[in-house]
Amino acid sequence: MTEPEVIELWPCDYIAPCTARECRRRATTILRYLDNQERPDHQTNACDNHASGLSVALNVIDRRR
Ligand SMILES: [Zn+2]
Repeated sequence: MTEPEVIELWPCDYIAPCTARECRRRATTILRYLDNQERPDHQTNACDNHASGLSVALNVIDRRR
């Protein structure tokens, strides 16, 4: 199993909690991890702080605007 290296950031337009442990903020971003064929692998929701933390060192495609 290889780690996904590309991540798309999408605006989170539904109400969901940030999935980071101990974080109680509302998610503002959907992080969609792509596999090496650029197919969606899995996704998670995160607040602004954790979205930038989770996407560090990954190849980010920002779709939020
Ligand atoms: Zn958070």
